[in-house]
Amino acid sequence: MLDAASLRRDFPILSTTVNGRPLVYLDNAATTQKPLAVLDASRRYYEETNSNIHRGAHFLARLATEGFEAARHTVATHLHAESPDEVIFTSGCTDGINLTAISLTRSGLIGPGDKVLISTLEHHSNIVPWQMLCEQTGASLLIIPCHEDGSLDQDAYAKLLEQQPKLVAFNWISNAFGTVNPVVDMTAKAKAAGALVLIDAAQAAPHLKMDVQAIGSDFLAFSGHKVYAPTGTGVLWGKRSVLEAIPPYRGGGEMIKEVTFEKTTYNDLPFKFEAGTPNIEGGITLAAALDYVNSVGLDAIREHETKLIQSAATGLSEIDGIRFYGPDDRAGALSFAIKGVHHYDLGTLLDQMGVAVRTGHHCCQPLMARFGITGTTRASFALYNTEEDVAALVSAVKKAAVMLG
Ligand code: PMP
Repeated sequence: MLDAASLRRDFPILSTTVNGRPLVYLDNAATTQKPLAVLDASRRYYEETNSNIHRGAHFLARLATEGFEAARHTVATHLHAESPDEVIFTSGCTDGINLTAISLTRSGLIGPGDKVLISTLEHHSNIVPWQMLCEQTGASLLIIPCHEDGSLDQDAYAKLLEQQPKLVAFNWISNAFGTVNPVVDMTAKAKAAGALVLIDAAQAAPHLKMDVQAIGSDFLAFSGHKVYAPTGTGVLWGKRSVLEAIPPYRGGGEMIKEVTFEKTTYNDLPFKFEAGTPNIEGGITLAAALDYVNSVGLDAIREHETKLIQSAATGLSEIDGIRFYGPDDRAGALSFAIKGVHHYDLGTLLDQMGVAVRTGHHCCQPLMARFGITGTTRASFALYNTEEDVAALVSAVKKAAVMLG
């Protein structure tokens, strides 16, 4: 059992008031708020150990290097990676997917006539980098369709795999609908068809335990800021054999072994993919955020959020003309539309009542097109949300629906 009321004390921003009302923050799929443990780790880093890493021979450089590499260790343990060498610090999920797509483009592993398979549920950041790869390599994109309930069509997926795509990329949890995809099963099928597999875990990271060895994929990317860490942080995990087989995507300091004007040799993993001074404080605070999440417990977090989502769905279902998107066993987000009410107008009224939600296409325009809509209203949940937040959401949406109806 999770005690959200007391956990809220770890998040100073939650005591903000909006238009004289207490803030009800339900935009967690966009970004989460940061606990004191993370804010303190940031401050401690700059007050006590700030220095550039790896190169310096002095005291502070050693402390900062130890802190950054300890953070990599924490991430590796959190992901159950075989080695910290498989953990590459990035600026976010988008960065990790682009790194993979650009390195694969340069690798020569994907060429003219090859196929890349993604799903209808993808965020633009798991679509556009693959379109760019296709443009440059002559490969083409295939799309796994989804059912009316927002779950992926697994029969169609099995059929598409018969075309032997070189790469399959899909999200674990949809940011737009909260659909939870069966990643272990989908990955096993893709591997059996001979594909490389990338999991977009941006929305899974705050809600689910992640075990990259149990999943069996080749890559997994997520953003720190959706799991209580600062913006500008993230991780790309890659299987050692695959990371060793593809070239780096950026050149510079740190990623080299030896440079002459004639030839450069690249550094070992993970440094080969970390050109330039990394976000040192970002890596350290990301680890602090994962420690925080683990101290609360991901099973307890999931259970707590599931209860909130279900009670929000029950409360909102009393509204005439409401439609929910995504299957009933959704995680993280509850997406809906009300007949005759524009999501933008609804979001604006909710804001006036202190309720922060997201409206629009959620960076999933092809998914919106599939459902013939321009957007939805999305309430998304975190460990610090409470039944009071749900009650405030339901009452505000009911009021707004009457005003706009
Ligand atoms: N994939 C999914 C499923 C997401 O929800 C997001 C963020 N909304 C991203 C990728 C991109 O993450 P970022 O903008 O933090 O790089």
